[in-house]
This record gives sequence, C-alpha cells and structure tokens, in this order.
Amino acid sequence: MDVATSNLSRAMAEQADDTFKEADTALLGIVERVQHDGTGPAALKRLHDALVMHQQELPQLAGLFVYDENGIWIVNSTSAPLNRFNNADREYFIFHRHNADPGPHIGVPVISRSSGKWVIPVSRRINKPDGSFGGVALATIDIDFFKAFYDSLQIGNAGAVALVLNSGVMLIRRPFDVKVIGKDMRSTELYRYYTTQGPAGAAFIKSAQDGVTRLNNYRGLRHYPVFVAAALSKDEILHEWWNDTIWHSVGVLCLVIVVGLFGWHLIRQIRLRTTAEAELTLTHASLEQLNQTLERLAMQDGLTGLANRRQFDITLHNEFSRATRHASALALIMLDVDCFKQYNDIYGHAAGDDCLRTISHLIRNLTAGRPGDLVARYGGEEIAVLLPNTDVASAVAIADTIRSAIRDLEIEHSGNPTGFVTISAGVDARIPIRGVDEPTALILAADKALYEAKSEGRNRVLAARGNVPSSIAASHRD
Ligand code: GH3
Ligand code: MG
Ligand code: MG
Repeated sequence: MDVATSNLSRAMAEQADDTFKEADTALLGIVERVQHDGTGPAALKRLHDALVMHQQELPQLAGLFVYDENGIWIVNSTSAPLNRFNNADREYFIFHRHNADPGPHIGVPVISRSSGKWVIPVSRRINKPDGSFGGVALATIDIDFFKAFYDSLQIGNAGAVALVLNSGVMLIRRPFDVKVIGKDMRSTELYRYYTTQGPAGAAFIKSAQDGVTRLNNYRGLRHYPVFVAAALSKDEILHEWWNDTIWHSVGVLCLVIVVGLFGWHLIRQIRLRTTAEAELTLTHASLEQLNQTLERLAMQDGLTGLANRRQFDITLHNEFSRATRHASALALIMLDVDCFKQYNDIYGHAAGDDCLRTISHLIRNLTAGRPGDLVARYGGEEIAVLLPNTDVASAVAIADTIRSAIRDLEIEHSGNPTGFVTISAGVDARIPIRGVDEPTALILAADKALYEAKSEGRNRVLAARGNVPSSIAASHRD
C-alpha cells in the first residue's frame, strides 16, 4: 500500500506539474508579446486571437486574461465585453505589483468573475519598457479539471487526495467539498510533515478534515511551489489484510479440524484393533484350552478316568507298528472283574461304578512307573493294559501283581466264591512280524486267555496258550 500511494502521488505530481507548465508556457508568450507589441488596438486584436487559440488547445484553462497596471481587464480569451471587471483587488495582482520577480505565481483559488466557477490563478508580471509594473497576464485553471482527474483515481471509499500550495493553502481535495478550497493547512500534521521531513515522504496521519487515519504519501512538484498528497484509509488497508488473515485462519482451522478428526479416527481404529487383537488372543488361548480339554475328553473314559477305547485302539496300532519296526515285544493284559453282574445285583449299580473306579485307580497306580504303558477301559468292566517292550513273563507278573492287589483290597462281594472282589486276566505278548501279525491277533489271544482263566475258576492270570509255554503262565488260586 505504501508503494501504491507512492505511485499515486508521483502520478498526481506529474499531472499537476504538466497542467501548470502548459498554462505558464502560454503566459510566457503572452507577456513577451505585450512587452514588445504594446497594447494598441491592432496588437490587442492579434493578442485576443492568440489567447482564443491557446484556450482551445489547453483543456485545463478556464480563461486567459491580460490586465493593465490598474487592474483593468484589457484583453481575454472569451468574447465577454471588456472593462467590465477590475481585478486590482486580487491576491495575484497585488503580489505582482509589489514583486519584480518575472517568474510564475500560483495564487489562492478564487471564484471567477467572468464564469462564476472556482479557478486556480496562474500569473506572470508584465513590465513596461522602463521595468516598472505594467500589468498582469493571468491563466485561470478550472478546478473541475483537477476534480475530474482525482475522481477517476481508485483510492477506495475512504481514500483522499489533495493539491496544496507550499504556502499552506488548499487548492482542491477529494472527497470534494467546496468549503475546503482555499483553506489554511499550515496547522495540519500533513503540512508539518511536508515542511519538516523533505519534499517527498509517507506517514500515517489522522486527517484534519474528516478525522480518518490514512497512509499519506506526499510529494512536492518539480517546477511549482505546490505539493500533492495521496492517502489510503488505514481501516480499508487493514480490512483487506483482515479479510486475507481471516480466510487463511479459517482455512488453517478447517485443515486442523480435518487432520484432527482423521487422527482421532485413526487412534480410535488403532485402539479398537488393539482391543480386538487382545480379545482374539484371549479367545484363541481359551479355545486352545477348550480344544485340549475336548481332546482329552475324547480320549478319556468318563467313569474311570482311564484311556477310552478309542485311545486304546490308536495306541495299540502305533505301538504295534513300533514293535514291528524295532522287533521288540509288545504285551497286552486283558482283565475282567469276576461275577460283576452279581455285584451290581447285590450292591446296586452305583456301588458297581465305585468299585470300577477303585479298581481302575489301583491299576493305574501300579503301572505308573513306566510312561509308555497304557491302561484303558476296553468296555464294561473289562480293562486292557498295553505294555511296550515287555515279554510275556513280565506281563504275567504285572497282571498277577494287579490281581493280588485287587484281591487284597478286600472289597466285599458276597456273590464271589472268595467273598471279595477279584479279577481274572489273560495275557499275550509277541514280537510282531511284518505282514504276518495284526493288532487284533494280540487282542484275540489275550481275550482267549482271559476266557480260559474264567473257565478255570476265575481270580487267576493265564498266558495265551499258543504263544507261551504253559509252564510260564502264571496262575493263582486262593
Ligand atoms: P464273569 O465273572 O464271567 O465275568 O461274570 P460277570 O457277571 O462279570 O459277567 P460279565 O463280565 O458278562 O458281566 C458284565 C457285567 O458288568 C454286566 C453289567 O451289569 C456290568 N457292567 C458293565 N459295565 C458296567 C458299568 O459301567 N457299571 C456297572 N455298575 N456295571 C457294569
Ligand atoms: Mg465282562
Ligand atoms: Mg466279569
């Protein structure tokens, strides 16, 4: 805005300088003519024609006039009758009468006596041949000429421009007010700046005319004692800045809100994800636990807690394969509670269950020493004991240990000839041969031995006959 007002004041100064210069140049020619040709009727006629031509050429001129030493109007650029006015009272006339300086003089604005309009007088002194005062040549510049130019400048609604004499007299100002024409400006801040800070400068000044604070740029004309001032309202300058600032701020705020919302959303998503992941981990862990439980349950007998038939079948198959590969002995004990039907009948089914549980625990405790062994509920009150790396003699010995331990529990059983719960067991053991032996053969053989133990009187252990010499087979009688 400082640059804008500076450019404006420079343009105004140039325009004013040119306007005055053109009028002054015309005056110079007029003065020269009057001083050489005198004021005889023929000379005046020629001078009148010259004045008319000048006025037609220069649009800023309201009129061109020549006065004699008494202020009498002797020739002009219009067709108005002569001798009607006496201008001896005008400021410029008095100035030239008392001042021998032949240079131009710009006077205070006056209302023209010929046209009734406000004009700025530009004048030069005419000398008689002896050098004494001979009159004044006057060019009047129409104030409307400046007004039209100043009105065409873009200075906002509250901007101002002024044209001021160096002596402190206001020539014209926009906003235009006829009352400020000729006003004394010497007490204003603008005038103080111009006279103390040099012929050109800028300052924020509160106007003495209307109280508005403006950024003023003032500048003196190059050839005439006049200066111009161009001023833009501080409020209007700041208004534009405020507009920009507010829009930028609103833009930045919107951006911050968008980024904030995005960030908030992102953080929320991350939190949700973290929670979901933690829940998933928990669910995964509990599922795994559940799976293990299910797996265990699927492999376990509900009543006794022993391995169930399914697990037995799988383990038998695996151990049979392993024994085949390693050519090691695999033994199987099949044992069955004696007269258990009667036990149920006498003591009730619940007592039968208890009895089964007790026997199962005992067998498991007795075989707990070797981790490879498997005790399974084969079905009903029949229990199978699978013993890898065990020959038939050892298996018979283990079976007999079980048998006697159960007998030693002395669980009362009035339906059993011994008076206590007893078991019978059949044992088989073999080193399986690939392509010859099958796991079922082991079961069948042990089962058969069990059947024989039953038929031989129960409470005894028998080894499968075809497999083992009968002398090795253990048997026991109370
Ligand atoms: P044996 O000496 O010949 O074996 O005579 P037994 O009466 O024991 O005959 P068997 O082995 O055929 O009888 C099986 C009986 O076992 C039938 C059934 O009442 C009983 N039993 C089978 N499973 C269970 C069970 O889970 N709980 C109870 N309480 N009894 C069962
Ligand atoms: Mg049975
Ligand atoms: Mg039985």
